[in-house]
Amino acid sequence: MRIAHTCARCGFDLSRIHAPVEPIYGLPVVVCPNCREAVVRRRHPVQARWRQARAATVSIVLLGATVVVAAIFAGLLIGLSVGLRTVIGRAESRGDVFWLDEEVILIGGLWSGAAVLAGAWLGVMLPHWRWWAVLPLWVVALWSAMVVSGAAEMMRIVARGESVDLVSLAWLRWLEQRGAMALMGASIVPMTAGYMVGRLGAWHAGRVRVRRKWRHRTAMRQRRHT
Ligand SMILES: [Zn+2]
Repeated sequence: MRIAHTCARCGFDLSRIHAPVEPIYGLPVVVCPNCREAVVRRRHPVQARWRQARAATVSIVLLGATVVVAAIFAGLLIGLSVGLRTVIGRAESRGDVFWLDEEVILIGGLWSGAAVLAGAWLGVMLPHWRWWAVLPLWVVALWSAMVVSGAAEMMRIVARGESVDLVSLAWLRWLEQRGAMALMGASIVPMTAGYMVGRLGAWHAGRVRVRRKWRHRTAMRQRRHT
């Protein structure tokens, strides 16, 4: 949208004239080429409101994307934790040293890679969050996904009309999955490493952006003075 801006004194169209930021008050000022009147460039209120609406939409979409991608990572880590526990158990039952087993190395690599990426994603998307708030959130997300999937299975059994002792079934599930749950808890370690890297990256990018803006402003000021 093209802004409408005319000279307050002579009515000359100023909308195409560049408005450098005046250094003392920090306002964008246009000098009318017709009558030399200095006029402060103001944004039209409709344009300002549109900009605010756009900023709000962008932040909502970003938050939604953060949650969706974090949920995908959580699902991936649950699957990889169960898989890793399974291949460790298989190697142990063969009497092998499990950390030398090829399957364990492969799935363990995927498991730690997914945890690092999940952490980096959260660090980039939520850099203003405190790490001690993000990490428990991650544990809660993982474990509640596990509980929900277990509860869904029990609901199916109940819906089929089979009589079953839900408490002992839950206990059995826990005994079956506790190795995988321990691995899920342990994924906090590579995830924290990824989170730190992501946060550092976001912090660095922020500094670069601020510096670029500052350089841009200084260049404008110099252009005005020469
Ligand atoms: Zn004028």
